[in-house]
Amino acid sequence: MAAIPFQLENTGALQGVRLRRFWLGASVYMVCAPLLWFAYAAGFIQRDAVLLCTLAIIANNIAFYWIFRTGYNLQFVDPSLTWVQMLAGTVILMFTAYSFDRARAVVLLLCLVILVFGTFRFRVREYVVASMVMLMGYVGVINIAMWRKPETVDVWMEAFQWLALACVLPTFGYIGGRISDLRMRLRRTNDELGSALGTIQRMATHDSLTGLPNRVLFSETLEHALAQAARHKYPVALLFMDLDRFKNINDTLGHPVGDRVLQIAARRVAGAVRDSDIVARLGGDEYVVLVENYQHPQDLTEVAQKVIAALGAPLEVDGHSLAISASIGICTYPVDARDALELVANADAAMYRAKEMNPGASCFYAQAQDDRSVGRLELEADLRRAAERGELRVHYQPKINLASGRIAGVEALMRWQHPRHGLLMPEKFISLAEETGLIVGMGYWILTAACRQAKSWSDVGYPAVPVAVNLSARQFRQDDLVEQLAAILRTTGLPAARLELEITESMVMSDPDAATVTMKRLRAMGIRLAMDDFGTGYSSLGVLKRFPIQSLKVDRSFVRDLPHNGDDVAITRAVIAMAHSLRMDVVAEGVEHQGQFDTLRREGCDQIQGYFCKPPLAEVDLIAFLDEERLALRATAGDD
Ligand code: C2E
Ligand code: MG
Ligand code: MG
Repeated sequence: MAAIPFQLENTGALQGVRLRRFWLGASVYMVCAPLLWFAYAAGFIQRDAVLLCTLAIIANNIAFYWIFRTGYNLQFVDPSLTWVQMLAGTVILMFTAYSFDRARAVVLLLCLVILVFGTFRFRVREYVVASMVMLMGYVGVINIAMWRKPETVDVWMEAFQWLALACVLPTFGYIGGRISDLRMRLRRTNDELGSALGTIQRMATHDSLTGLPNRVLFSETLEHALAQAARHKYPVALLFMDLDRFKNINDTLGHPVGDRVLQIAARRVAGAVRDSDIVARLGGDEYVVLVENYQHPQDLTEVAQKVIAALGAPLEVDGHSLAISASIGICTYPVDARDALELVANADAAMYRAKEMNPGASCFYAQAQDDRSVGRLELEADLRRAAERGELRVHYQPKINLASGRIAGVEALMRWQHPRHGLLMPEKFISLAEETGLIVGMGYWILTAACRQAKSWSDVGYPAVPVAVNLSARQFRQDDLVEQLAAILRTTGLPAARLELEITESMVMSDPDAATVTMKRLRAMGIRLAMDDFGTGYSSLGVLKRFPIQSLKVDRSFVRDLPHNGDDVAITRAVIAMAHSLRMDVVAEGVEHQGQFDTLRREGCDQIQGYFCKPPLAEVDLIAFLDEERLALRATAGDD
């Protein structure tokens, strides 16, 4: 798996710094060479001595240049060779001082320049030691000079010079040491800051559990890879994998075991692919492998097979023998997707297809497409995550009481704010949700949301209207429906009498006895029940009397042709009369114009719902409407 570098290795850069420092020292030596010749001209030093000193300087510089250039210095504990350079400088300096017959003090001034070699590396102690070495060197020079050429030595003068040097050098060394300390502290802080920044960067771009690149880094890498692929005209493929039944492991063995499984799976996937392929964890138990520049689709099947085989190896975590497998969806660019978003979405859709048809195997997007229409496939993958991504919305359509003209309740209707397709209506996704079983979770989501919101309206003083929520057939058959509803009412605090459930004829007619039991239990809790889309199924009013229903919603197909269609007027009249005899309220759906409104009122319908009054409203708009209603109610109360 390709590692994504975030910090550069800098040994080369450091060696460059050392070489530059060497050139600085060498230039000081080079300045000294002409000075020596100047001293010769002034008669301070003999010609042969000048030659020797110059040669020593040149030899010294060539030697150090060679050492730094070849990197031989890296074998030493201190690759900057501070001590060696300092000692070599001191030896040359002392030799030069010895060679001077007069004005030796001038040469000794260069001790200060030599100490500069220690800048940033010597601490106070080392500086003091270096000063001592120089002072001792000077003592040696005077002694040798007194022995070899006593005529050049003025003992008192030399002693004074030595003392002066003994005062200056340690002071200089102390200051130099403090500067080095400061710089070292600065460098440490800098290093700490650098590594903290590195950690932050790593945390933002890598998954902390597995160490793999996360969604953020992966998206960037993918964009870059697609741009490269487009420029150089080669294909890119994305393998999207999801562990099968991972939720079971988490639920039954606990999250620590689940986490270990995810780590092992990450290692196995990364180990199964080439170093150049990029592996990332997108979240949960989803991993992706980006394969750049493959030769043949067959190569991708092989990669998928390798990954599947690696994942399938026996696994033991905390004494539990586990078997894991993954389903993989494969999508290619540019054939099956035009951009990064589409590539991920399509690979994801193909993965779901694999899971559905052949869990633990791989499926190409193209193949999945043959099985089903594209839009539906994509939508299905997206719908699975809609709730957790917070894309579901509730709109509310008011029901109006025909006698009073005031709001009688609201119906909660689900909407899906899709990231690419915009706001989707139920006709686009409810049947899909029903087929895939996702409707159950979505149904509980809207129940909770609607109950919570309805409670909050009355809490702040708006009319305490009942809220109606549509139940799906699957949800209605859930064994724990009643318990779930009780829990929702308990957590949201909405009184049961303010919740109405809309069920359809087909839901109850498939097993009327079981349905009656469920309905009675719901009624016992105080929840109201309504028969939705009445007239579209096969039930007769006679059958209806078995069910504990409070209201009947006449389907809009009977309302549409009112008042012109005589049959529809007759049916509506009969339905209203019979419903009333069974003590049910009648709600007419889909009322769009005045003629329908007048007919329904004349026939004694209780409530109407339709664009003629209000379309389904987002919560803010409903609140504005509730506000109007509150004012109207106050005014009516005032009139009384
Ligand atoms: P429904 O329960 O019969 O809801 C009434 C539908 O009629 C709503 O469509 C509403 O927007 C539409 N409508 C209201 N007034 C008029 C009108 O004057 N003229 C016309 N032509 N239509 C009108 P929507 O919101 O698209 O919902 C469609 C169906 O989707 C609902 O029919 C319901 O069966 C289902 N549905 C909506 N939300 C949910 C939900 O949360 N869970 C379940 N299981 N089903 C839902
Ligand atoms: Mg309804
Ligand atoms: Mg309806």
